[in-house]
Amino acid sequence: MIIDAFDLPEGHVLAADVCIVGGGAVGLSMALHLIGSGLDVLLLEAGGLDVETDTQALYRGEVADETMHSPLDRYRERRLGGSTTTWGGRSMPFDPIDFEVRDYMPHSGWPIGREDLDPYFPEANRLCEAGRFLYTVEEAFDTPRQPMMPGFDSAIFTTNTLERFSCPTDFGRRYRHKLEAARNLRVILHANVTAVGLNPEATVVERLTARTLKGRQIGIRARQVVLANGGLESTRLLLASRDVMDKGIGNGHDILGRYYMCHVAGTIGAIQFNRPVWNGYDIADEGTYCRRRIAIRPDMQRRHRTGNIIARLHHPRITDPGHGSGVLSMLYLARMFIPYEYGKRLHGGVKLGLGTQVRHAVNVVLDSPNTIGFLWHLLRDRRLAERKFPSIIVRSKRHLHSLDFHAEQEPNPESRVTLSDQRDALGLPRLRVDWRYTRGDVESVSRFLELLAGEIAATGVGRFEYDPETVEREMTRYGAYGGHHIGTARMGVSPRTSVVDPDCRVHGIANLYLAGPAVFPTSSQANPTLTAIALSLRLAAHLRRRASARPAGFDATEGSPS
Ligand SMILES: Cc1cc2nc3c(=O)[nH]c(=O)nc-3n(C[C@H](O)[C@H](O)[C@H](O)COP(=O)(O)OP(=O)(O)OC[C@H]3O[C@@H](n4cnc5c(N)ncnc54)[C@H](O)[C@@H]3O)c2cc1C
Repeated sequence: MIIDAFDLPEGHVLAADVCIVGGGAVGLSMALHLIGSGLDVLLLEAGGLDVETDTQALYRGEVADETMHSPLDRYRERRLGGSTTTWGGRSMPFDPIDFEVRDYMPHSGWPIGREDLDPYFPEANRLCEAGRFLYTVEEAFDTPRQPMMPGFDSAIFTTNTLERFSCPTDFGRRYRHKLEAARNLRVILHANVTAVGLNPEATVVERLTARTLKGRQIGIRARQVVLANGGLESTRLLLASRDVMDKGIGNGHDILGRYYMCHVAGTIGAIQFNRPVWNGYDIADEGTYCRRRIAIRPDMQRRHRTGNIIARLHHPRITDPGHGSGVLSMLYLARMFIPYEYGKRLHGGVKLGLGTQVRHAVNVVLDSPNTIGFLWHLLRDRRLAERKFPSIIVRSKRHLHSLDFHAEQEPNPESRVTLSDQRDALGLPRLRVDWRYTRGDVESVSRFLELLAGEIAATGVGRFEYDPETVEREMTRYGAYGGHHIGTARMGVSPRTSVVDPDCRVHGIANLYLAGPAVFPTSSQANPTLTAIALSLRLAAHLRRRASARPAGFDATEGSPS
């Protein structure tokens, strides 16, 4: 059932076995998993079914260095479906090495292993509509595929791992009918949770408070509470809930809000191959677009002390008309039609002089057959198709590519979010983000590139040229990778070094859980959503098992004040 908080009376109190805060990919996956479980589930969602300007404005905040991090109301969507209303759908699981303690990666190590999540990945893949949970070429395809870089036989790198693409599935839209039909689930829209209320001993959540932007307040009592309201927002809510714990809930040791990671990513250099290479998509049986990447093997990460990093063959920088591609020039000239979140890394907001713009226009005219073909492809395979072609692929006639890399960031306690002095329209302190990268991040990417250049030369497939002096500039050119909000409420065994335990339960609070990328202790090469969903499904299974354990004194009475 879907209800609007605007239709509930002022002061109304709702009760449930499980209350999930947030209806993004993570919260909705848990709710869907709990349908038919026999548990009475309540999901509180701040937004409505569509974009609403005043609701989205609740996400605004402060950023310490705007060249390093996007504004906080960008790369996040406050509405049913959360950021899956705009995401790219690139999906792959975290690798086993991501969970290990690595002596060269400070603060690394999860208290659980990849094997703890393996049972949940197939369902996570299904929910994302990313096809079967098969992430190598050999597993995913019955017939052999052409090699990505013929002759590149390397002991350091692989080219057979895949990223699979979701439709991209908007979870709110795709699963709405299931939410409406579920008998044991109530989704309350426009319910912004503004406070998590603990008992005086700070051991149990007694009550949540939710508000609408029209001034209505509702109360919620639940046996188990899960904060699934996004990688930054769940941390903000815990930091701001201070009536019993003066530094915020789960923050007895000043860990909450620290270790903020996104990814570091960039495009660099020129790879001249001697033969044609394959940088397009393979299509799996069920229609899923899959793409191969260059990945550094786990044993080589350990030997060369690099983080987990992958790279893709990429087109030249679009702002430079020297590429001669009508398609890329057209994308530059049409930049005002590309949403901020995607334009940022495509054209970087760069405004070129008139002369350069004319050169782009000349490219479009001279390369018009390709440009027209590309427009048709965009219309057919992206705008009209149910499963959208994931990205721009430009074939290079001269076998010339740049390298696009996506790298793990070191967990760093100085990279953090805190509460600002400003408040939003509901009275909640806004967030202040101070995202940082480390020398270790720069060195790790530098070693990866150096090793790759060596292997490309040694295998005789071509030549990779880049200026090592530009690595730091390129990996931070657009700042933190947008939309990946990782690590601010990390998982661990001790409250001295972490916020949640291996079951995602906030240390010391019997019935409060966190779901989402905030609990990841490390960031991997992988985009976070698939792993966040798998972890949330594991949590849902845990809550099912715990269903009979009811905190003493729980009051399940619902209703309005008389
Ligand atoms: C442009 C873009 C592209 C991306 N591409 C990819 C990709 O290709 N692959 C990938 O893995 N990831 C990608 N991501 C990241 C991905 O979208 C997120 O990791 C994922 O959506 C996070 O899901 P979530 O449920 O944890 O959080 P969210 O999607 O942020 O959902 C949180 C929900 O909680 C609600 N909420 C917030 N505060 C409250 C409150 N106080 N009370 C009640 N409800 C609240 C919000 O309205 C929202 O619905 C991308 C993100 C962006 C922005």
